[in-house]
Amino acid sequence: MKEKKYQFKRAAHIQKSLLVCPNCYEYLSQFDIEHFQVCPYCEYKFENDDEIEDFILQPFVENWISQFDEPPQNSPELLPPR
Ligand SMILES: [Zn+2]
Repeated sequence: MKEKKYQFKRAAHIQKSLLVCPNCYEYLSQFDIEHFQVCPYCEYKFENDDEIEDFILQPFVENWISQFDEPPQNSPELLPPR
């Protein structure tokens, strides 16, 4: 099994994964590293690898998937009260 180079933290309150900087241990979002794969806190340079790529692409993939999710029809909550 391939050894994981980077740690990721699932932030439950925002439903997003965050990348943990291996140098300063700050939590980074996709937004922080999507243009320059460098930690904005300590300027650690992330290697361009599959894990980082997956991490950066994750919001786009989730967006893409959500386009195919039908909104719930005839949801009981939306029915007028009797
Ligand atoms: Zn850092």
